[in-house]
Amino acid sequence: MTSLLITNGLLVTLDRQGRFIENGSLFIEGRRITDVGEFSPDRYRPDRVIDAGGRPVMPGLINAHHHLYSTFARGFTPPGEPARNFEQILSRLWWKLDRALDAEDVYYSALLVLMEAARAGCTTVIDHHASPSCVDGSLDVIERAFRDVGLSGCLCYEVSDRNREGEGIAENERYIRKCRDEGDGQMAALFGLHAQMTLGDRTLERCADIALNLDAGFHVHAAEDASDLRHAKERHGKGIMQRFLDFGIPGPKSIFVHGVHLEPAERDVLKETDSFVVVNPESNMNNAVGTPPVLDLLERGVNLGLGTDGMSSHMAAQARALYLSQRAAHGDPAVAFVEACQALLESNRALCNRLFTEPRGMLAPGQLADVVIPDYSPFTPLNADTFYGHLLFGLCFAPARTTIARGRVVVDDGRLPQLDEDAIRARCTERARKLWARIE
Ligand SMILES: [Zn+2]
Repeated sequence: MTSLLITNGLLVTLDRQGRFIENGSLFIEGRRITDVGEFSPDRYRPDRVIDAGGRPVMPGLINAHHHLYSTFARGFTPPGEPARNFEQILSRLWWKLDRALDAEDVYYSALLVLMEAARAGCTTVIDHHASPSCVDGSLDVIERAFRDVGLSGCLCYEVSDRNREGEGIAENERYIRKCRDEGDGQMAALFGLHAQMTLGDRTLERCADIALNLDAGFHVHAAEDASDLRHAKERHGKGIMQRFLDFGIPGPKSIFVHGVHLEPAERDVLKETDSFVVVNPESNMNNAVGTPPVLDLLERGVNLGLGTDGMSSHMAAQARALYLSQRAAHGDPAVAFVEACQALLESNRALCNRLFTEPRGMLAPGQLADVVIPDYSPFTPLNADTFYGHLLFGLCFAPARTTIARGRVVVDDGRLPQLDEDAIRARCTERARKLWARIE
């Protein structure tokens, strides 16, 4: 079993006591953290020692909603008139791009973003995937990218009736079974659904039957735009969460993404079913769909997670965006500071601990060895009282100097030593050029 000793770190443990340990050390054996504290480095004979140089040493960050397949959209302008609303953004950009992806595009778009995530100190990504031209086996292709970079992933395929009824159901079922029967803990699975507006009753019923049978949760967009709510009311005569509730979709392992336009009564469905809502503030601003009612959701006791929705892989920056957007929306400089940090550091961890078999998100013995040393030297005191300020004003701009995922050093002095980064980037540029040319 390989062992790793980190010395001379400012340990931000995020453990139950919330300890900050100056000049602390951390010992890793295999995939687990086994010792954390002020012990003498002579206690162990590790395979490798990493001197943190007084920098913060933190648990790896978690992204609770990503779209790895969106990678090659960077810089792409869809042909035709620019989109003027959310439905046009879907039909003119995303549903053209995802249909044009082949299996190799799926692999490289995942690989590249996971490299970025590792470099931003993120070690677990919950992804929501669509590639209608290569559905079957697509989650295995993404899994290969996770294993090549070394991060943990929770995958799903977004079922929708937009191309053909029930597309993606079999891929979810297959992959959930695979994780359950053959998994080693690195990968987890949810049952993916696009959004209620692209799903008929027959499809929802089939999905619910299968997921219930497999004891799997769902990962679905909900109330991202006002058009989703309008659709539910006009077509089905009920709210979005009520429609999902009628099929048994909410629950402790289910993720409802965005929640921008959830009516107050619908927010209580999330609380009553112990579901998660995952907000993505940069994406909401980018699509001009509104601001999620985060403070009200928290007041109601709803579990609130944080994701990037494909906008980036920088989770600390996303916490900053949540904090800033809520202050702007409420016109109140006293809100959302603590809430944004807790969503990132505590709530995303709680979500992962429901989805994965190995505990993560703390520097404590027995936890998965997902550890990041940001390249950050604070010039004001960094301790329990000041950490959130450092997170939202400094650490959010700091790349990882070292990222350890599942006990393995995946970012070493800012580089990913196990991958040929230049060759991968060149290959991605070539794939993106060909992909863009296929989109009409
Ligand atoms: Zn999304």
